[in-house]
Amino acid sequence: ATSEDSGGPGEAATTYEDIGGLDEELDLVREMIELPLSEPELFTRLGIDPPKGVLLHGPPGTGKTLIARAVANEVDAYFDTISGPEIVSKYKGESEERLRQAFEKASREAPAILFIDEIDSIAGARDEDADMENRVVAQLLTLLDGLEATDEVIVIGATNRVDDIDDAIRRGGRFDREIEIGVPDVSGREEILAVHTRDMPLADDIELATIADRTHGFVGADIASLCREAGMAALRRGGHDAAELTVTYADFETAMTGVEPSGMREYVAEQ
Ligand code: ATP
Repeated sequence: ATSEDSGGPGEAATTYEDIGGLDEELDLVREMIELPLSEPELFTRLGIDPPKGVLLHGPPGTGKTLIARAVANEVDAYFDTISGPEIVSKYKGESEERLRQAFEKASREAPAILFIDEIDSIAGARDEDADMENRVVAQLLTLLDGLEATDEVIVIGATNRVDDIDDAIRRGGRFDREIEIGVPDVSGREEILAVHTRDMPLADDIELATIADRTHGFVGADIASLCREAGMAALRRGGHDAAELTVTYADFETAMTGVEPSGMREYVAEQ
């Protein structure tokens, strides 16, 4: 269930530059995580407990994982991901043990950030197999409660369904802050477009503000695929010298016919 994600070979490490929009959200996360991991002695001196965890919630593809990775990289912390669904299904029977091992490893490698993706599937209230669920929730609570300031381990939980999460997990200083990572507005979309076209040779007819205007409902993941598709459309036009190849507004228009905002897809599916 756990994987070391400190950016494998050839995979550039995620930085704050890779996050479009979300300025306030990122500031809140940084405040909770950077100081406790880099200068825990400040908290000891002041006699206050440093934060142990942050819960990020919001629709899929809005940048929750991105934020967690970027913070870990920027503070040079060990980073490990636990996938909620994997813990409860793939490792059925050894879920608690897997969780415990992940926390232990994080403490050994501290300073560390432990990212629990789709934490609702571990810590949500469900009826089938309630016994197992309850044991896993109990284990998670024990592990969260057992984190000491000196461990220099911070847990970032992520969920699309914050209301499904067991109250016990949200209570009592387990996650010191809940931060909503929402669907970006038009200026957020423009900033995300800027991130994903950073390395693209854009034709002069492209104004990111115009594309941002036309992509209502797109989340970061949608904008990333839109930019990729626009690049592919430019390739397909072909007939160019690599040195002269640019991505035009028409390429983005072509891409827009194929990429739908994920919010809309869900909306349609629910009809
Ligand atoms: P999920 O709930 O599905 O795990 P998530 O919120 O964790 O979603 P990410 O994995 O962070 O979403 O985003 C997926 C991809 O979408 C990122 O790797 C990135 O390419 C792009 N992306 C999402 N949000 C942003 C953003 N705010 N700025 C730039 N790129 C983004």
